[in-house]
Amino acid sequence: MRVRKKKHGAERLAACEKYFFPATDDIKNVFGNSNPVHIEIGCGKGTFIRDMAKKYSGINFIAVEKITDVMVCCAEKIYAEQLENVRILCADAKTLAEVIPHNSIERIYLNFSDPWPKAGHKKRRLTHAVFLDVYKQILTSDGSIAIKTDNDSLFDFSLEELPQNGFILEDVTRDLHSSIYNSDNVMTEYEANFTKQGIPIKRCVAKLK
Ligand code: SAH
Repeated sequence: MRVRKKKHGAERLAACEKYFFPATDDIKNVFGNSNPVHIEIGCGKGTFIRDMAKKYSGINFIAVEKITDVMVCCAEKIYAEQLENVRILCADAKTLAEVIPHNSIERIYLNFSDPWPKAGHKKRRLTHAVFLDVYKQILTSDGSIAIKTDNDSLFDFSLEELPQNGFILEDVTRDLHSSIYNSDNVMTEYEANFTKQGIPIKRCVAKLK
């Protein structure tokens, strides 16, 4: 993602501090309830997490994004609507097992992750085994990962990498919007753009065995 430096980015983010995900051993203390917790890794500007949090008030959400200037847009959306079932976390996916309690996340969303097309960069793909090992630590035993992408190569890679690392694939489609899985679909910003260009959206769910 091309990111312009945000004016007063640090101050704007600090103004949303009450939504920051804190250091914790027990995720129930963060949200004040024991509702299931879902996270989106690479939330971008936060449209998906905002719309999911409004639609599913009985689920808690954590929006993770490594670029602070991108997170500002997400944080301000959450703040504007005072969404108490959302927390934001500026972090790289590879560090998540250090900041999120283990066995606490029911679902991880990977929406339109960077494809890293060069073979030499495959360890950076968010569905590479390096990241799957992190996700396995934070997911509950019946947890799942839901993936959406426009990118055929990243999708093909993920469909191989997930089963090789202890996940079972479900609900695989190469055209989400024409499939039976579309009825409860919440669009992301990237998804809206790719859909406008006529690119079909690939989607799958991976469950721990
Ligand atoms: N999910 C959004 C944005 C997709 S762009 C949407 O669908 O509209 C991918 C986002 O993932 C970018 O904002 C990028 O900064 C973030 N990202 C990429 N690698 C990451 C990592 N290792 N940890 C956290 N975020 C990451």
